[in-house]
Amino acid sequence: MDKIKMTTPLVEMDGDEMTRILWKMIKDELLLPYIDLKTEYYDLGLEHRNETNDQVTIDSAEATKKYGVAVKCATITPNAARMTEYNLKEMWKSPNGTIRAALDGTVFRAPIIVKGIEPCVKNWEKPITLARHAYGDVYKNTEIKVPGAGKAELVFTAEDGTEIRETIHNFTGPGILQGIHNTDKSITSFAKACFNYALDTKQDLWFATKDTISKKYDHNFKDIFQEIYEKEYAKKFEEAGIEYFYTLIDDAVARVMKAKGGFIWACKNYDGDVMSDMVSSAFGSLAMMTSVLVSPSGVYEYEAAHGTVQRHYYKHLKGEETSTNSVATIFAWTGALRKRGELDGNKELMAFADKLEKATIQTIEEGKMTKDLALITSLKDVTVLNSENFIKAIRETFEKM
Ligand code: NAP
Ligand code: MG
Repeated sequence: MDKIKMTTPLVEMDGDEMTRILWKMIKDELLLPYIDLKTEYYDLGLEHRNETNDQVTIDSAEATKKYGVAVKCATITPNAARMTEYNLKEMWKSPNGTIRAALDGTVFRAPIIVKGIEPCVKNWEKPITLARHAYGDVYKNTEIKVPGAGKAELVFTAEDGTEIRETIHNFTGPGILQGIHNTDKSITSFAKACFNYALDTKQDLWFATKDTISKKYDHNFKDIFQEIYEKEYAKKFEEAGIEYFYTLIDDAVARVMKAKGGFIWACKNYDGDVMSDMVSSAFGSLAMMTSVLVSPSGVYEYEAAHGTVQRHYYKHLKGEETSTNSVATIFAWTGALRKRGELDGNKELMAFADKLEKATIQTIEEGKMTKDLALITSLKDVTVLNSENFIKAIRETFEKM
């Protein structure tokens, strides 16, 4: 059988530890035998980031802008322990943070649904995709611990010197103060990324804030979304048969719990931080969660939502057997290949991505899975496979299909 040809390369960002091991296995077993794989390879492994003074991360983000689609392996975000472990020149920034800033992107996280791994919320039949605004609010705050009585004011000084001044509170004793901000530019990018992704995946988009209480701050989010929607997206949404729906955050939370799923939930930064952990744990496992970074200009970077699975890697280094789940990393590849196929009009590549996803799901549904899933599945008679044999089992299913 001829291998599937590609016209444009994918930007391939290799990573660290156990996921780097899985990365190679996935390529060798599931991709290279079937695709004439064209990638522009960037090694974001911590050693190479250190050697290049992190230039490789910046280069990989630039390449993503150029080609439009990237697939990324999980990477170590250095901390004090990693400084010593890898003898680092500097505590390099999180690659994900660097790439997100370069692409001005929004991250969409979605669970992979299989029979036998049931969500805790029993009416969730379809995935809920969570989009988190990744700039500002409480994550870029200024805080004061107020020592005692006094007046707190909010002051904005324009470039021409004019002032806007509001009293926050007249303190009669000690307390606390916090200043937060966001920008119309960042909210606009977020809104566009959400609308584009909804069109792309043909799912309704929900957005919620607390605009009844925060009549200027949160209301600004609501207004920007509404304005962009009406100006640029309302017609496209109608044609696609999908809806944009705005409500209050508490109402959204209540509705999400009663919903069937199958929509995108856009959240402000803090809401997204909290709700993404709730949604992902309720769907079963971080190892079954995909993540895609979408820029407002329509550039895509696919990855797994989990990290480098360090604990398994250390076992692997000691020569012990591991049973690490490669599903989210496989879906990062299929997501990227499908998108590449879509942009290049390469139907074969798109069909390959669909089929590999089906084979992966079917393998689990037939009872062959890694240990993390075996611990939570409702299926009987499961076979627990090691990291490598699980990938080989997927290949067998794929070949049979
Ligand atoms: P992690 O790699 O997500 O793993 C945490 C634990 O979750 C694992 O020890 C394992 O539990 C379970 N797990 C996660 N993925 C799994 C999989 N595919 N299969 C089976 N079990 C899985 O998080 P971490 O250990 O806190 O972080 C390790 C490194 O990853 C850190 O250096 C961090 O900076 C980095 N990180 C990178 C990204 C990214 O690149 N996007 C995201 C998060 C973290 P058991 O040990 O109980 O089996
Ligand atoms: Mg969090």
